[in-house]
Amino acid sequence: MDSNQKIDVAVIGAGIAGLWACKKLRRAGFGVALIDKSRGLGGRMATRRAGKLQFDHGAQFFTASKPAFLGLVSELVTDDLCAKWFADRYVAIPRMSAIGRGLLDSEEGLYLNQQVRRIHREASGWFIEFEQSGHDIIGNGYITNIVIAVPAPQAIDIIGAEYSGFEKLKSVQYAPCWTLMLALEKPLQSDDVYMEFPDGHALRSISQNSNKPCRGEVAGLHTIVVHASQDWSIQNLEHDKETVQDALLSIVSDIFNFQTPPHYISAHRWRFAEVTQAAKVPFLWDSKIGLGACGDWCTGPRIELAFDSGNALANEIIADRL
Ligand SMILES: Cc1cc2nc3c(=O)[nH]c(=O)nc-3n(C[C@H](O)[C@H](O)[C@H](O)COP(=O)(O)OP(=O)(O)OC[C@H]3O[C@@H](n4cnc5c(N)ncnc54)[C@H](O)[C@@H]3O)c2cc1C
Repeated sequence: MDSNQKIDVAVIGAGIAGLWACKKLRRAGFGVALIDKSRGLGGRMATRRAGKLQFDHGAQFFTASKPAFLGLVSELVTDDLCAKWFADRYVAIPRMSAIGRGLLDSEEGLYLNQQVRRIHREASGWFIEFEQSGHDIIGNGYITNIVIAVPAPQAIDIIGAEYSGFEKLKSVQYAPCWTLMLALEKPLQSDDVYMEFPDGHALRSISQNSNKPCRGEVAGLHTIVVHASQDWSIQNLEHDKETVQDALLSIVSDIFNFQTPPHYISAHRWRFAEVTQAAKVPFLWDSKIGLGACGDWCTGPRIELAFDSGNALANEIIADRL
C-alpha cells in the first residue's frame, strides 16, 4: 500500500482481536492495513527470545468454548499452527507469538514498529498520526474506517476526547503482572506442567515452558515462566526489574530448593495484563464516522473473549458497509 492509497479499514493493534478482525475483513473483500507498535505480532500472546531460548511470557494457553473460536482452533490445529498442551488447553506452535503469522495471509498492508499517537477525521476520511513519523505513512486522509484493537487506556489516548460514544473505555480496569523467565539445567521436580497457586500466594502460576508442544529443551536447558499474583504485582509494580527478578527467584527457589543458580533469568512487567473490570459490551462502533474499538477489555481477560470481540466488530462492519 502506498501512502496515498485509499484504505477501507485500518486496524490498530495486532493482538488476537485485531489480527482476527483484519483476517475476517480481508476475507470479506475489504482492503485492510494492520498497524502495531511492536516488532512482532500477537500482542499479549507473546514470546521473548534470548539467543536460542524462547519463553511464552504473556498468555500461557487458551481454551475454546464457543463455535466461532472452536472453528478457528480446529483450523489452526489442522494447519499445525496450534496444539493441545494438556486437558482442554491449547498453545500456538512453535511459540505463542506464532499465532500472528498463522492468522496473517500476507505481509502486504502490515506496519510494525509504528506506534499510533492520535487519529482524526476530515471530510475525505481518517488521518493517523504516528509517534515516530508523523501522519503520512498510510492512507493520507483516505482511510474510510478505523478499528482500534489495543488495551483500553491506550485506546482512550488514541481516540482523544473529540469523538463521543467511546466513554465506556474509561470504565475498564486492569491488573498488572510481573513475569519471571528462567532457564534451568534441571527440570522442576514436579509432575505438573502448569502449577496454579491459591489466592493469597505471591505467585499465580508456574509453567514448564519447555514442556509445551514443539518447544523442548534447548542446549540442555529447561525454560520456566512464572507469573506473580495480582496483589504481589501491584505491590511491586514500580520496583526495578533486578529487584523483582531476585524476589521472584527467591520465592520459586524456596518452593523447589534450587541447588544451582539459573542459567538465564529475566523479568518482564505487564502493566495492562489482565482486565479486572470489563466494559461489558461486545465492541464499540460508530457507523456514521466509521470508528470502532474491540479487545479483551470488552468482556474479560481471555484470548477467546478478545477473539469474540474482534469477530463481532468485523461482522458488524461487514454488515454495515457491504
Ligand atoms: C501475563 C499474562 C498472562 C495471561 N494468561 C492468559 C491465559 O493463560 N489464557 C488466556 O486466555 N489469556 C491470558 N491472558 C490474557 C490474554 O493474553 C489477553 O486477553 C489477549 O491476548 C488480549 O488480546 P487483545 O487483542 O485484546 O490485546 P493485546 O494482545 O494486548 O493486543 C493489543 C496490541 O495493540 C498494540 N498497541 C497498543 N498501543 C498501540 C499504539 N498506540 N499503536 C500501535 N499499536 C498499539 C500492542 O503492541 C498489542 O500488540 C494473559 C495475559 C497476560 C499479560
